[in-house]
Amino acid sequence: MGSSEKGNGTFPACGYGLLGLCCTDCLLGPCRVHPFEWAPARVLCAEGPDEIVAKNLLRRVTLEAALSVSRLREAFLRFEKWGLSRPSIKRRGGSEKEKLAGKYGFPADWPLRKMVRTLSLGTRALLSPFSGKEASFLPWLLPEKTFPPIDQNGDADGSFVNLLLDSVDLTQGRPAEVDALLWQALSLSRMALLSEQIRKDIHVLIDEGAETITEEDIPGLLEGLPPAPAPFLLVVTDETMPCQESSNTARDALVQRLKEAVPVIQLRQTGSLPEVGRRLSQKWRRPISEIKAMTLLSSSQATRVLGALAMGFHVMSFPPLPLHGSKRVEAFFLKDLETRLGNRYFVSWEDDLFSQVQAFLT
Ligand code: SF4
Repeated sequence: MGSSEKGNGTFPACGYGLLGLCCTDCLLGPCRVHPFEWAPARVLCAEGPDEIVAKNLLRRVTLEAALSVSRLREAFLRFEKWGLSRPSIKRRGGSEKEKLAGKYGFPADWPLRKMVRTLSLGTRALLSPFSGKEASFLPWLLPEKTFPPIDQNGDADGSFVNLLLDSVDLTQGRPAEVDALLWQALSLSRMALLSEQIRKDIHVLIDEGAETITEEDIPGLLEGLPPAPAPFLLVVTDETMPCQESSNTARDALVQRLKEAVPVIQLRQTGSLPEVGRRLSQKWRRPISEIKAMTLLSSSQATRVLGALAMGFHVMSFPPLPLHGSKRVEAFFLKDLETRLGNRYFVSWEDDLFSQVQAFLT
């Protein structure tokens, strides 16, 4: 492919890749599994399409999440140094306190210094493989009244690094448990999304606005919504999207039609979703999965889409997740998730997408 084709975004995507059926996991491959002509002998490791699609998704998520860990670690090291230099945080205004309380659910009467310390200890625990449950930051980050519990065995210790290492292990397991792979991909993606929020907040705190990290005014964005629960469309165009992909005719037409029926709120950062969920849940006194908000997400990152699903948002994404090469994986996101968490994934290439979304929102 020439660089000009790459640059203008017109080159065709790989059909097998779109379905999640390309595998490059070992030197016996690469293998491409035909969606309609599956036979065990086609793939040397004897994995079926369900395992291949699920493992591909978890592998992709693991790589993206590793990058999030690395960025969070970098920010945390600067945060520690900043703490050691003992800057006066007393002179910060009350708005800093309000922001942290709103984002993390810290009690509003805590002094700013205590909030900053809790943020620091919690981040250290997230990044350590030895932190243990008692140091977990998760109850602050994911209050049960707002976000659905997704840890299968309830034994998550709140360490991002451990979750990452377990994911690498799972992708190598044979035979693979498809459901276990998918739950792991959801947990890891949720953690990646949270770490994006923490990383940005650390930058805003220590750089005092000097860095070019733009914060979204979530309370301002949500204030136009009515006091009682009402359906709306949340459009998120993630900053990771290459600019030529920011315009998508099918998506833009869908938004245009839905605008006539429900209010639309635009977000530029997927990392803002935890705060949106927390504030909506406080405003309307219900968990996020029971709120009739359709999240339309445009992102090049699978962790963004899966992280939003793991937090209970109803999601459709452009481009769609590469999962249609497996009936089992498709059923997991379109049906099983709804039974377990109360929310679901809407497939953005379905012909009747508009009717499905409209039916959901009304
Ligand atoms: S893990 Fe299996 S499907 Fe993947 S490349 Fe190796 S042999 Fe092919």
